[in-house]
Amino acid sequence: MTDEKPEEVLDFIREIVADDLRTGKHAGIVTRFPPEPNGYLHIGHAKAICLDFGVAQETGGRCHLRLDDTNPAKENEEYVESIKHDIQWLGFDWGENLYFASDYFEQMYEYACELIRNGLAYVCDLSVEDFKEYRGVPTRPGKDSPCRCRSVEENLELFRCMREGDFEDGQYVVRAKIDMASPNIHMRDPAIYRIKRIHHYRHGDKWCIYPTYDFAHCLEDSIENITHSLCTLEFEVHRPLYDWILDALDVYHPRQIEFARLNLSYTVMSKRKLLELVEGGHVNGWDDPRLPTIAGLRRRGFTPAAIREFCKRVGITKFDGLTDISLLEYCIRDELNKTAPRAMAVLNPVKLVITNYPEGQDEELEGINNPEDPAAGTRVLPFSRELYVEREDVREEAPKKFFRLVPGREVRLRYAYLVTCDEVIKDPVTGEVTEVRCTYDPDTRGGNAPDGRKVRGTIHWVSAAHALDSEMRLYDRLFMTERPDEVKEGEDFKSHLNPDSLETITAKVEPSLRDVDPGTRCQFERKCYAYIDPIDSQPGAPVFNRIVPLRDSWAKIAAKG
Ligand code: ATP
Ligand code: MG
Repeated sequence: MTDEKPEEVLDFIREIVADDLRTGKHAGIVTRFPPEPNGYLHIGHAKAICLDFGVAQETGGRCHLRLDDTNPAKENEEYVESIKHDIQWLGFDWGENLYFASDYFEQMYEYACELIRNGLAYVCDLSVEDFKEYRGVPTRPGKDSPCRCRSVEENLELFRCMREGDFEDGQYVVRAKIDMASPNIHMRDPAIYRIKRIHHYRHGDKWCIYPTYDFAHCLEDSIENITHSLCTLEFEVHRPLYDWILDALDVYHPRQIEFARLNLSYTVMSKRKLLELVEGGHVNGWDDPRLPTIAGLRRRGFTPAAIREFCKRVGITKFDGLTDISLLEYCIRDELNKTAPRAMAVLNPVKLVITNYPEGQDEELEGINNPEDPAAGTRVLPFSRELYVEREDVREEAPKKFFRLVPGREVRLRYAYLVTCDEVIKDPVTGEVTEVRCTYDPDTRGGNAPDGRKVRGTIHWVSAAHALDSEMRLYDRLFMTERPDEVKEGEDFKSHLNPDSLETITAKVEPSLRDVDPGTRCQFERKCYAYIDPIDSQPGAPVFNRIVPLRDSWAKIAAKG
């Protein structure tokens, strides 16, 4: 083995970009991330962001943030702000290059006029339903709209009147005059301008006509001199239309390259569905920690680095697939294992009494903050006669391999003492364990036996009198099924919601966390990684969000970490 890092393999898009730089096709790379401000960004967008901004960053180029706000029905300023915030939080910077597609409306209007003047677009008065008839289906050619032969002068005049507001919504549309027999349905005289009396969050009522997505998007890329327009696979079939529009107008022509979108198991990502969950109160807002939104992941406790690492591992390909949500969970675990200070919390507490420990006495023990990071130091752990331990660590009878609290067996209390379980007390009616009684060996302070006797099990605990009673939210997968997006006909995707996706408990937490800053992450040993909720925590009363459970590694924990 050498210290040399293996050269990173470029994905097919980075290969193309590198080639275009090598051959001098472009002096610099310009990409863009073009969200529509009609919802919050999600982890799928993060994949596109990492690619668009990543390619620009790696090549010394630039990436534009362009709010694609050409369809005002569901757009607003709140969404714009959330998008900017989320991109910055993910660690990317558009610098000077913030654009709004709606600022190009005048130019787009002019482009549409030019197509009309060149006989390449016309004003059509067929209703939406009628045009569907005319358009036909992919396997059968459509037929020409009777409006196709309208004169240029009449078309220009009608288009002007559309803009002036002389007509009803939907009364006319402008269509590109392409080919009603094309096997590609997108080429069958697609609409490029529609009448819609909708207030625009940036331009008010200045416009009552709006360009369609297909007409607008390729022109936005052209206007901004984008070199590589990276988008998801579903736009591949739209590319011939974009090519046609840009050629017809004889304007700058970016190269569009499509890649597979991110699909994640046990969640949904369409903005329409996310909005439905938010508006229907199925989750608590766009930043609900169960949502795959960037805001939700942030609130849950994910870090930007873990999300970027996830996107890197997912990679860029042409093949649509389903990514297992456990990969995302792996990425945050992997990071927090190295960086998160350890602490102890008992999630499902049962009282443990050390019968030979003097009543009223307590002492301070020392815990290692992070065995992976010696610089993280140590902390004080108060210890006393009555502790809380995890209910699942106690059994009245258990197989030999259960190295925890069973009458007659000795176990190590993390950073404290070896204790022997003498008795498990149960409620005579319910049979539930109510208390565990143990004796401790005073010569094993810190958790080591001076005689070197072997004690396999180590469990966590908190001192009953010193513990914080803290709210802890145990988040789980939002859906019970792997592909809630693929429901049967007539079925509601919401019927697959996991009713147990949030369980709120009161945990017994070690007191060192009382005044830790909200927004801090920690590992509760043997249980989970947690995040101190920055919104609901109060001074002296942290509220914990479980980010991910920890794989149980209790058996491997040695006496001194
Ligand atoms: P909708 O949910 O209505 O389809 P959208 O998620 O496509 O909307 P946009 O605002 O159009 O929302 O997306 C902005 C950019 O993010 C687009 O370039 C799009 O290709 C990309 N993007 C969206 N979803 C994903 C995804 N799941 N994986 C990768 N990229 C995505
Ligand atoms: Mg879209």
